Amino acid sequence: MGLFNEFEWPVACPACGEGPEFVFQAYIGLLDFETFRKGEDVYGRACLRKVVGPEPGLKGQSFWAYGLGRCPRCDANVWARIEVRQGRFDRLEVVPEPENSYVWGYL
Ligand SMILES: [Zn+2]
Repeated sequence: MGLFNEFEWPVACPACGEGPEFVFQAYIGLLDFETFRKGEDVYGRACLRKVVGPEPGLKGQSFWAYGLGRCPRCDANVWARIEVRQGRFDRLEVVPEPENSYVWGYL
């Protein structure tokens, strides 16, 4: 991945059961290697970069996009669907590896 943001969420690793804190990289918000936790405004940080994901104009909107994390114990890749509601990181759910990790949608 190039520019991304990170999203922290407690999950159990599907491969080894490790948990709870995982960090998932995703193209959500103003992409500047920021780390977000539940409830934080994904467009709310001061950022000089013009790169946004998954597309411009989503500030304050509700949408989902894929994120990729790595288990700190067994190194397994773990995919997640990250949900943003009204511009804030709301929830995250582990999913099978997507065919196209750039797909996203409105909620
Ligand atoms: Zn693991």
